[in-house]
Amino acid sequence: MAEIDLQKIVSHCKEYGFVFPSSEIYDNLGAVYDYGPFGVELKNAIKEYWWKSMVQMNDNIVGIDAAIFMHPTTWKASGHVDSFSDPLIDNKDSKKRYRADVLLEEKIEKFKEKGLKELAKKGVSSDASEEDKGKASRDYNKGLILEAEYIKAAEAGDLKRYKELIEEYEIACEVSGSKNWTEVRQFNLMFATKLGSLEESATDLFLRPETAQGIFVNFLNVQKTGRMKIPFGIAQIGKAFRNEIVARQFVFRMREFEQMEMQFFVRPGTELEWFEKWKQIRLKWHLALGTQSDDLRFHKHEKLAHYANAAEDIQFRFPIGFKELEGIHSRTDFDLAEHQKFSGKKLQYFDSELNQNYVPYVVETSIGLDRMFLRVMSESLKEEQLENGDTRIVLNLPPALAPIKVAVLPLLKKDGLPDKAKEIYNQLRFIGRAFYEEKDSIGKRYRRMDALGTPYCITVDHQTLEDNTVTIRERDSMAQERVHIDQVEEIVRKKVDMNELLKKAMI
Ligand code: ATP
Repeated sequence: MAEIDLQKIVSHCKEYGFVFPSSEIYDNLGAVYDYGPFGVELKNAIKEYWWKSMVQMNDNIVGIDAAIFMHPTTWKASGHVDSFSDPLIDNKDSKKRYRADVLLEEKIEKFKEKGLKELAKKGVSSDASEEDKGKASRDYNKGLILEAEYIKAAEAGDLKRYKELIEEYEIACEVSGSKNWTEVRQFNLMFATKLGSLEESATDLFLRPETAQGIFVNFLNVQKTGRMKIPFGIAQIGKAFRNEIVARQFVFRMREFEQMEMQFFVRPGTELEWFEKWKQIRLKWHLALGTQSDDLRFHKHEKLAHYANAAEDIQFRFPIGFKELEGIHSRTDFDLAEHQKFSGKKLQYFDSELNQNYVPYVVETSIGLDRMFLRVMSESLKEEQLENGDTRIVLNLPPALAPIKVAVLPLLKKDGLPDKAKEIYNQLRFIGRAFYEEKDSIGKRYRRMDALGTPYCITVDHQTLEDNTVTIRERDSMAQERVHIDQVEEIVRKKVDMNELLKKAMI
């Protein structure tokens, strides 16, 4: 099967109505995208999968929907005003802008990947310790040395050292090929706006760069009204905004995107145990979609944020390489304690078992909905070579996520076949989004449904009028079977059932 690159996914998404560039008639807005008719269905199905598994099936997790605008002090307390920035660097020849930290991290990764190939040839296991791998491979060792230097610079916030390392390790611009770099400088990623109509009295606001803070500031409201007992979680799905420096990776990195976040409040001292638990719960959720296990991996943060005492990402093998899909972070009591300090209001929990008040610790799981969309697209889009020499484009989405669950197609546009087909379509609509289509040859219609990821096509022909049987065609195998109309609903319902997916994720 042919490997699908990012460009093919972008074109497919546009051609089939999944994702369009924003304001396209005005030549687009950079790193902002609009979801089309089938994209929004897929996105909603992903949300449903997350929300059901996270909120509806956990009696100790509840949801909220907080506003995008928040009191400006929120972002002072959370540290975003002072430190939510990326180190940026420009290449003077191409004028291309990069994140200096990403350039260094990619170089480390390259050294290590080259080293791993060398180690495989020498028969050294990839499970060996970092130290042993470094001893056995020169390249791996270079990766380790650069990594140590990078972490030191990052911890000290030493931007000058970033540039020195970029120069020492001869990192070149991918466009100009030159090593002619500007200084590294910090760039705050929050979008500022104003609340109020009078310029003089308007309040400066930020569009939220993450949904989490809406959860923290509502901690007591939710805990008290929901009578929640620790450990418990608050979950939310919503938009977040970041003025990203590097934004050329389709919906992987957007300036307006959606997050699905859950903050789990625990007794201090138990957070690392919960951190491990949540890592496993989330991995299982991802694997339930049928992903090859070697396309997902945990990645430990090289540099911990000052408030975290553990942090790992779940990375997915995107067409642009292994990249962060979800973050799992043990954030200590940092956020609640800061909000307590800045607001002057107590954000504590009375633990009746311990007969003690404390600020709870937090383990967070945070996943980008759009990245999840891209992950599902990139593992589902296939170009298949058929035996007759044709190429088939098929989107073999997990059926529970498919935008259209079933298509009903009359073989011909006459002889009463459309009426019969519409009758069947009307029944099947109750399962989920059904689709009726009578234009084009049946072969073309099958191809279109394959490209949209529709698990089943039902074809109504003359025999249907005689004996109430139809042909049911399965997307992945293309196998066709003749079944009685009464069986169709059950066959489709079973295949697209979200509960089956949830069972795989949760049991
Ligand atoms: P990255 O290092 O890739 O910039 P991050 O570490 O800043 O990501 P978090 O702040 O941990 O990301 O955000 C949680 C999740 O939100 C990420 O795992 C990702 O799935 C998603 N996310 C973050 N930034 C973006 C973006 N610009 N576009 C789309 N999704 C994003």
